[in-house]
Amino acid sequence: MAERLETGSRKLLGRLRDAMASDVEGQARLDKITHLIGDSMGCEVCSIYLFRDEDTLELCATEGLNKDAVHQTRMKLGEGLVGMVARDRQVVNAADAPQAKGFRYMPETGEEIFSSFLGVPVQRLGEVLGVLVVQSKSSRAYSADEVYALEVVAMVLAEMTELGAFVGEGAAMSARHSQPVMFKGTIGQEGAAEGHVWLHEPRVVVTNPIADDPHREMERLREAVEQLRVGVDKMLELAGQQDNDQRQVLEAYRMFANSKGWMRRMEEDISNGLSAEAAVEKEQSLARARMGKVTDNYLRERLSDLDDLSNRLLRILTGQGADTGAEMPADPILIARNIGPAELLDYGRSLKGIILEQGSVGSHAAIVARALAIPLVVHANRITTEALNGDHIMVDGEQGVVHLRPDDNVVTAFRDKIAMLAAAQERYASIRDKPAETRDGAVLSLQMNAGLMADLPSLPNSGAEGVGLFRTELQFLVRNQMPRRSELVALYARVLDAAQGKRVVFRTLDIGSDKVLPYMKPNDEPNPALGWRAIRVGLDKPGIMRMQLQALIRAADGRPLTVMFPFVAQFEEYREARKLMEKTLAAEERLGHVMPASIEIGAMLETPSLAFAPVKFFEEVDFLSIGGNDLKQFFFAADRENERVRRRYDTLNVSFLSFLEGIVERCHATGTALSFCGEDAGRPVEALCLAAIGLRSLSMRPASIGPVKNLLRRSNLAEVRKVIADARHRGEMSVRPSIMEWLREQT
Ligand code: PEP
Ligand code: MG
Repeated sequence: MAERLETGSRKLLGRLRDAMASDVEGQARLDKITHLIGDSMGCEVCSIYLFRDEDTLELCATEGLNKDAVHQTRMKLGEGLVGMVARDRQVVNAADAPQAKGFRYMPETGEEIFSSFLGVPVQRLGEVLGVLVVQSKSSRAYSADEVYALEVVAMVLAEMTELGAFVGEGAAMSARHSQPVMFKGTIGQEGAAEGHVWLHEPRVVVTNPIADDPHREMERLREAVEQLRVGVDKMLELAGQQDNDQRQVLEAYRMFANSKGWMRRMEEDISNGLSAEAAVEKEQSLARARMGKVTDNYLRERLSDLDDLSNRLLRILTGQGADTGAEMPADPILIARNIGPAELLDYGRSLKGIILEQGSVGSHAAIVARALAIPLVVHANRITTEALNGDHIMVDGEQGVVHLRPDDNVVTAFRDKIAMLAAAQERYASIRDKPAETRDGAVLSLQMNAGLMADLPSLPNSGAEGVGLFRTELQFLVRNQMPRRSELVALYARVLDAAQGKRVVFRTLDIGSDKVLPYMKPNDEPNPALGWRAIRVGLDKPGIMRMQLQALIRAADGRPLTVMFPFVAQFEEYREARKLMEKTLAAEERLGHVMPASIEIGAMLETPSLAFAPVKFFEEVDFLSIGGNDLKQFFFAADRENERVRRRYDTLNVSFLSFLEGIVERCHATGTALSFCGEDAGRPVEALCLAAIGLRSLSMRPASIGPVKNLLRRSNLAEVRKVIADARHRGEMSVRPSIMEWLREQT
């Protein structure tokens, strides 16, 4: 039986290949294919449904159903048996379809006379393109072999759809990857950019889904897998013996590369007529479909390893390496499923925009994008499957919207927006050297956040008075090994040189939580954000912190030095850290190094507990900086990385503002210098409210300084305070609506 099926299936694929090669086009080709499949499988009906838009399927061709229903019958995702196949990416095999759960009667198709139904998803790389259905009058469940044969055919159909084989006169099908598409993602970094697509991992195009010679295909597959295995072994050798994430991934690669099941399934696909590439893709599609359903993180990661491995294999087979010979456009907008901070830094400032399918706003890639001031949109679902290298694209980082292959109206509107943003930038440039002074005479100090050398050129142009937060961990995160002390000395000295005498607040290493160093043993903690991180690591393992402090002292080389400890939750931690600094200073002096001209040692206020520390703490600490990102997540108990809860609590929430006001008052009473360096400092409306409750020093992304200063200079803080007091008096949850209304009245 298997033998018969194999030859039957191969014969059908051979006929399909002829249909592909023949000069019939578009609809005629689709019609011919449904006829061939129905005929070869001995079924009265064969129909092809393809997606018309994201959630509507359309009957595009049929053999056996009423032809008038073609391009008329449509169903929503999940609607009827066909909609279910597409939604669940699963085969539906029903002996008595009209009785099956979910069956929906479509009178125009005349299908009620057909009892049995077999539907399989037409999918490519995990993306469902449509549904292929066969039906018969007799009431029977299709055999496993028949299901398998239809899946193989569906794979070929998917490739043909991708190649545009059904586009043409009367087909009412437009070519894939040619229509305008809009994606709504999440804002990662504001700004707008127009350019052309550059795919981080180019799509592999399979032009020969059907095998001419199965023996040859089998050989090609085996050779490619062997090449893959050798490559993985080599990578493992290079990775050495260390037990880290990279090694774990490589071990998983090796496991799959040697997996008999994976190989056997692909060989089976080939013996049924698929080419080696199509067989790899078929398995990859199944793995991707599974990935969408699996909730277990470990399993998801393993499936994603399999996905990466399939990509490698496809590149070997098609000869389309990561380097496809394509030239990066002059105005590249990078599209990737995800990207690490180091890879992003490699592209550097050449990119005009970045769009990620996954990623998160708090990720390090996002921090790097922000440091480089490149517009970034994350969670742009499906964009890597839609976009092609060189496509015209527009990124609106202000709204989190991406326009791929935009039509003329969108282009015009978007260019107007870019012009408006550029005009605003000019306005900001004109006040660059003016003070951030409000209409009622409050003067604020605006500083910038930084973390990479790439940030420093922005210092003179941004109008920042100094660097209010230098995140030192970024330098550790973008490397594959722990930086040496001498490297750190050179780096910190360059930072101080670039600052040209302006104050730079170096924050000591803030690792742990989401910031896991690739070369440190991962720490399996149930709640990393509440775990062993930042100062806790620094105090428990003082070696790294001491090395960093030494590097800072040496880099200062007689210049003033400002250091700040992250995530201090109680007075004692600050005292201990300060003691370590004092000891290090004394030891460095003994070694003959020049002492800093002056030294300030501050703490970040990122946990609510520190706001209630004894007065003595406020008196002892040289300065405090509110890390609003962490403070807010702990105040509301809402994970800053979790998109679901992140936006639930507003920074302008009355309770949070009252809490911040309490901190300002305590600092005022003890004469403690206070600043605010979380992301909110860079949002004009938030910054205005922070100024109104008494903050006089804000540190933010360089690009935010202009907009924040602009609003501060136009505002009267006494009036803002009144708006806040009134909203509080009325018992409102957040002062935002009242502030926004007040702002509207001002213009
Ligand atoms: C903060 O928590 O607000 C902060 C500035 O530090 P990070 O974002 O690096 O945790
Ligand atoms: Mg923090």
